[in-house]
Amino acid sequence: MSLPMTVPLLDLKAQYASLKSELDAAVLRVAASQYFILGPEVTRLEREMEEYLGVKHALGVSSGTDALLLALMGLGITAGDEVIVPTFSFFATAGVVSRLGARPVLVDIDPLTFNIDPAAVERAITPRTKGIVPVHLYGQSAAMAPLMEIAGRHGIAVIEDGAQAIGVRDADGRRVGGIGTVGCFSFFPSKNLGAFGDAGLITTNDSELYELMRIMRVHGGERRYYHSVIGGNFRLDEIQAAVLNVKLPHLDAWSEARRRNAARYNELFESRGLSEGPGRIAFDEKNRILTPAAVNEAAGVPDHHIFNQYVIRSERRDELKAWLTERGIGNEIYYPVPFHMQECFSDLGYRQGDFPEAERAARQVLAIPVYPELTDEQIQYVVDGVAEFCACVADC
Ligand SMILES: *Cc1c(COP(=O)(O)O)cnc(C)c1O
Repeated sequence: MSLPMTVPLLDLKAQYASLKSELDAAVLRVAASQYFILGPEVTRLEREMEEYLGVKHALGVSSGTDALLLALMGLGITAGDEVIVPTFSFFATAGVVSRLGARPVLVDIDPLTFNIDPAAVERAITPRTKGIVPVHLYGQSAAMAPLMEIAGRHGIAVIEDGAQAIGVRDADGRRVGGIGTVGCFSFFPSKNLGAFGDAGLITTNDSELYELMRIMRVHGGERRYYHSVIGGNFRLDEIQAAVLNVKLPHLDAWSEARRRNAARYNELFESRGLSEGPGRIAFDEKNRILTPAAVNEAAGVPDHHIFNQYVIRSERRDELKAWLTERGIGNEIYYPVPFHMQECFSDLGYRQGDFPEAERAARQVLAIPVYPELTDEQIQYVVDGVAEFCACVADC
């Protein structure tokens, strides 16, 4: 069967084409310098990120996962400690806690935003709780004000997982990453700001914590071969930083384009009777979908969502996924299995049914293409694909 068009979930070649000469020059500049690790490009990235995110300190690291790991190490999280994490996120959010011998204490999500539920966090706190990890999932801020209030009252650190949310603002208009004790970002190629490989960033307003993490980034030694604390190799490459320095000035425009695409989807899905509008539908309707709610939009918060993913919900998600794939429409499930159902966490003692909102999300979510370079014809084609599916479900 020949398809009228195909729409990938993400088109990195389109973005590369738009900045090719600058990106190529940046990579070749590093090659000519033969300075590969933690050099001037990394320093420049750190200073520009501090400015962009409105935070005192930024530290370039090897990946988003390593940013989370190093942040927890800097905070002294260790065996016997508990860290509260949402059960619905990318694996790294909980994996890093276990790697330090600490216990990830899982909690459910708010079904409207897919983000950690502050009331559930409050209930999960014990005398062993050392940290809370709000994830700004899909590019929308978690409810930071209530989380910071809870953490402050109990003297607990807040580690923001902003891997999918660089540049987004919370309900009070603050850029994420500078709100909690420490913020963690990923520049994996599929994030809104993507490197040419693995890269990440840590942010904090705590100068003492920053100094400790900076030393831990290179095996815990300020002076080479003299180690004051145990760290690791969490260094960032110059080539990655050089690429990110070229891309950073375009980030806000790309995120704005994603917001425009999301708004276009919302409008088309609603006008064609496929949805009731963002965040509104009975979850069990068989022949319609739920479009994503941007909860801070109505309040006029700028950068209220950066749509790293545009995620719809369907009661017949698996059939819809197969239908779209057959029509050349890229899609993905983020994430099919919550942490409490993962084999590697079976010793934590959770059971199916413990976190109903996360389990329902895992059954229903489907990300569809929302990348900045998407054309209106492509958006129409995606919407047609969903519409034909819903019509078929209604008829057959
Ligand atoms: C991508 C991601 C990470 C990990 O980042 P890497 O750079 O791939 O290590 C962590 N948390 C979330 C929510 C992510 O989406």
